[in-house]
Amino acid sequence: MTEYPETGLLADAESGSLLILHARPYGEGEGQNVLIEDGVIVDMDAAEDTPADRTIDAKGQVLLPGLVDMHVHLREPGREDTETIATGSAAAAKGGFTAVFTMANTRPTVDQPIIAEGIWAKGQRINLCDVHPVGSITKGLEGKELTEFGMMARSDARVRMFSDDGKCVDNPLVMRRALEYARGLDVLLAQHCEEPRLTEGAVAHEGEIAARLGLRGWPRAAEESIVARDALLARDYGSRTHICHASTEGTVELVIWAKEHDIPLTAEVTPHHLLLTDKRLETYDGVNRVNPPLREDRDVQALRQALLDGIIDCVATDHAPHGSEEKCCEFDLARPGMLGLETSLAIIADTFVRTGQADWRWLAKVMSEKPAEITRLPGHGRPVAVGEPANLCLVNPDDPWTSYGHESESKSVNNPYEGMDFHARVSTTILRGRVTYQDGKVSAPRREL
Ligand SMILES: [Zn+2]
Repeated sequence: MTEYPETGLLADAESGSLLILHARPYGEGEGQNVLIEDGVIVDMDAAEDTPADRTIDAKGQVLLPGLVDMHVHLREPGREDTETIATGSAAAAKGGFTAVFTMANTRPTVDQPIIAEGIWAKGQRINLCDVHPVGSITKGLEGKELTEFGMMARSDARVRMFSDDGKCVDNPLVMRRALEYARGLDVLLAQHCEEPRLTEGAVAHEGEIAARLGLRGWPRAAEESIVARDALLARDYGSRTHICHASTEGTVELVIWAKEHDIPLTAEVTPHHLLLTDKRLETYDGVNRVNPPLREDRDVQALRQALLDGIIDCVATDHAPHGSEEKCCEFDLARPGMLGLETSLAIIADTFVRTGQADWRWLAKVMSEKPAEITRLPGHGRPVAVGEPANLCLVNPDDPWTSYGHESESKSVNNPYEGMDFHARVSTTILRGRVTYQDGKVSAPRREL
């Protein structure tokens, strides 16, 4: 059995050998026959009749590294009625993901090693996806007292990212201390950029549509002022800082400025901010409430260009399940958040690859390699090559399908893409040589829960 030295993770004893026939790595060249043994790619040019425990015919399909999502909410512990580590892992596997980072705003908050270890261990028992807990920056997400980054980083969960996501660390002195603390440990701080004094009672993007509908506006400056402040703090205190869910044209300009000044700042963008605008508000449907809110077309265009140019580093879904009673209500009362794990590959592929603006190698970069690099995650986001861990997904680039919330593996149905048609579709996901998802079916969890 193979042990991955950096991760301490074992390939599945039962994963055995897997032969993938006629797959095109990164959608390039002719089909290749890829042989996987004990969770590792051992041959990229295997004979078609090589004996294997399992064979997949992937003719016409694109072979990519398994996707990595550095921003999801799996709601466990505390809101298992809306999502669990098991259902969230299943949704991740169906979406092509082999690793996700689940945010700390659970109940209780992930602010101690024992809570982080519980999440990590449960994810490993289920074994459909590596579930990395994010630790909170402050105790109870209260924005006051820092958590023990060191203890969480050294725990069995090996916490490598900290965030109060859902809330902004708005006190600049607390953020400064967090950055100084994080620097010594080389962990990543991820900021939910929202100056709360500018967004009190705000439910929608501050613009002409919200004004017409009588909805309280969330101005761009509430995000951008924190992005600017944290870029300056990162410059002076030198710790790696990450901007969650960038949503405005101005944020893009600030990230350009930070990178020009060699500030260690990275940024992510969600599929919904790359696809949807505040025109959705006209439906008054609570499913369209999200934080930061859906913006205007000029923001969408700026975010798309920034992702293509590498200014914004990666895509992250901010998969945020909510129960029907939290969404099917007045817009003002709806909880912010959208599902995203099962639709993200299709959105990015259809928006950028199908239109010829980018290729599959770029998609692998923004959905797998970069998030693994930013989080310093070993074993994921690696090249599709001999000797590498078999964390992979297969994509059919032209397999038209329609997104329906009730068909989701998630426990919730707050799907903003209900009834939308897509072309690209994940057919198979492989975690350390074990098939976790294939053709509509998620594999059974490895062990009883
Ligand atoms: Zn957030």
